[in-house]
Amino acid sequence: MSPKPKFQTPTGTKDILPSMQPLWNFVLTSFENAAKFYGFDRIDTPIIEDAELFIKGTGMDSDIVQKQMYNLKTRGGDSLVLRPEGTPPVVRAYLEKGMAHLPSPVKLYYEGPMFRYERPQAGRLRQFRQFGVEVIGDSSPVIDAEIIQLFAVMLESVKIKEYTIHINSIGTEQCRVKYKKILKEYYRSHQRQICATCRDRLRSNPLRVLDCKDEKCQRIKIQAPPILDYLDDESSKDFKAVLEYLDSRNLPYFVNPNLVRGLDYYTKTVFEIFSGLPQDEEEGVALGGGGRYDGLVKDLGGQDTPAVGFAIGMDRVINLLREQGKLPPKKAAPRIFLVQISNLAKKKSLSLIEDFRSAGINIRESLGRDSIKSQLNLADRFDVDYALILGHQEALNDEIIIREMESGSQETVSFGSIILQMKKRLARKVKKSKK
Ligand code: AMP
Repeated sequence: MSPKPKFQTPTGTKDILPSMQPLWNFVLTSFENAAKFYGFDRIDTPIIEDAELFIKGTGMDSDIVQKQMYNLKTRGGDSLVLRPEGTPPVVRAYLEKGMAHLPSPVKLYYEGPMFRYERPQAGRLRQFRQFGVEVIGDSSPVIDAEIIQLFAVMLESVKIKEYTIHINSIGTEQCRVKYKKILKEYYRSHQRQICATCRDRLRSNPLRVLDCKDEKCQRIKIQAPPILDYLDDESSKDFKAVLEYLDSRNLPYFVNPNLVRGLDYYTKTVFEIFSGLPQDEEEGVALGGGGRYDGLVKDLGGQDTPAVGFAIGMDRVINLLREQGKLPPKKAAPRIFLVQISNLAKKKSLSLIEDFRSAGINIRESLGRDSIKSQLNLADRFDVDYALILGHQEALNDEIIIREMESGSQETVSFGSIILQMKKRLARKVKKSKK
């Protein structure tokens, strides 16, 4: 057994190795194409942001701010954090860069790493990637439905057809103030039957008791008054409208009265999308979630501006695709290997590689190697159809040898004609294999 390497990836992080890159690219490109079709433009914000942005945005009492942020103190004394989520940075950019003056709504998408200090477990990383969309400047419930539809389209574009949308409304700030009182009242007589964390939550962030996974707490919350009964008229009307839009699209949703999402900024519609169908016995994994955040732009110093968005966990989507054995079609591997011997041949190879690139033909090479045997062995391992051999003599004579790997037959041709020669041969091979 080889010794344990001295350095390893930090806990909760991972490498995305070359073998996984095609799958990541496939998912990213599919998601980007769907988002662009729906009129979203890409935005990239820094990985480090002012800590205050999340304290004000995500919320002082949220788990993210309380337990999960990676804090950095710069030499200059600034309090920065590794961003734990994408929405506050996008709103910060919207305000800072004057996007409020653009035609409304402003539709932005992002993709990149997020950082949260989590207890490492399957599907939970400390550095993970999210793809998110934000629509800033429109309060109509049809926009909520449109982005849920986009979420579904994105999943379907990577061939995830079985998913369930959990949806709820947590109303406006005013309904929540009223509801939190009622919830606390209900839990007052159940203090001893719930977990210690929920007892704390009742003080700091009462809605969170509803999404506690502890078995004791699950039993108590069954009888808890549902927030939907305490919505004001506008929130109720909007929620009904969102559900009607989803019905009209036949999207598989399920009204989950315990879905509250843990962040301060959410208002009205909140949703999460899980893998698996609604009728499946086992609950799937959360692939992403989002909702309306009509107060955040104002909280961060802007005008009163409604907004809605979601974030998808890229790592979770990739894991699901791997588990289901759904891999993207393999890119055609290069069918030519360039073998060179001598310094002059290496020089000519550098320009030849460029000529092949310009002609759109993939080739492999190993310019650092000198021995013809080891280069031909490599050509065998890559299973190419042709090796091009450029020895010292050929380089001097302006020639090159084409070796057909299967038969071993060789032909010497002029160096200047090689691109044309290979185009013809590759086309002939394709024709033959189609017959
Ligand atoms: P959130 O920002 O917490 O609403 O998360 C949105 C989605 O990001 C989740 O549904 C997950 O798919 C993904 N996600 C959140 N936290 C993690 C994590 N620690 N590791 C991997 N994926 C995560």
